Amino acid sequence: MGSSPDIVVLGHHGCGTSIVRVHHIPVAGETITAWDSQHVKDGGKGSHQAIVISRLGGNSAFIGKIGSDEMSEASREWLVEDKVNIRHLLRSDLKMPKAGLIMMDDNGVNTIVSSKGVRNTLTFEEVRPCIEDFKSAKMFITGFEIPEKTALASAKLAKELGMFVILNPAPAPEEPMGVLDYVDVIIPNETEAKSIVGIDLHAEIDPIEVAKKIREMYKVGVVIITMGGSGVFGYDGRDSWSLPPVPVDVVNTTGAGDAFIGSFSWALFNGKSIPEAMQWGNYYAALSVTRAGTITSFPYLDEVEAFIK
Ligand code: ADP
Repeated sequence: MGSSPDIVVLGHHGCGTSIVRVHHIPVAGETITAWDSQHVKDGGKGSHQAIVISRLGGNSAFIGKIGSDEMSEASREWLVEDKVNIRHLLRSDLKMPKAGLIMMDDNGVNTIVSSKGVRNTLTFEEVRPCIEDFKSAKMFITGFEIPEKTALASAKLAKELGMFVILNPAPAPEEPMGVLDYVDVIIPNETEAKSIVGIDLHAEIDPIEVAKKIREMYKVGVVIITMGGSGVFGYDGRDSWSLPPVPVDVVNTTGAGDAFIGSFSWALFNGKSIPEAMQWGNYYAALSVTRAGTITSFPYLDEVEAFIK
């Protein structure tokens, strides 16, 4: 664990999701037996991005808050195993892990219970000294799985400290974001892109039009819209790049956006241009969707290099 990271990610880290397979979803008061159950290792968008960077050989740190319970303690180990700097992983007094429960029945119907955890309690006052301690870092990434106010104030501080700032507006913000002239690159997926410019979520979009609107409204540097199985689009105010998806056999797309953001950032940090870094992210995320799970799906550097060849 290096003491001065190059890339700092501020976000959320949860304790995984339990998936139980049942013949039918129980009604209130009913007790049934699951025929299969597993606990899937997934954290949060922020911790996933930090893990991706570390798996590629980068020196990443994660700032976030976990509960003071056994499940949170176990999930902390996932970051340690992946050599992410967690010097500023804060603890809440709350014994409130953010774990989810998914019940899947024989007809493929999912019933999902998600818990709030401690993520809504992270304040800028708590985070400020952590970011200041990492002031020699070159890049800062954040998103909205923590309070939007905390994320935006932290991004602004990171910019003032000289870092290159990447914002993943996910989940789509509930409050207006205001001018984001301290953000170098904003990376929404298609749904978030529509949401932040106020377009009907069911509408077809022309990525260049939406990207132009995002730049105009928020005064950000570069807009990158990830488009799932349709690839990725980027616009910097002058040039635009539209990259088709890398053809793969899809197993599970959960965490694809985190895979893209982590690997894109790592590539950019290593001197690649915006379109080169987008291409790197496009390959990395495509390889990740061929694997099950989220944390378990993120490839290591040698695996991506072999995949690209
Ligand atoms: P999110 O998980 O945030 O919704 P996306 O679904 O847009 O993110 O996926 C992020 C990136 O992952 C895409 O831009 C693309 O590079 C890659 N990706 C996602 N789904 C596929 C797919 N079916 N085939 C190939 N690449 C994919």
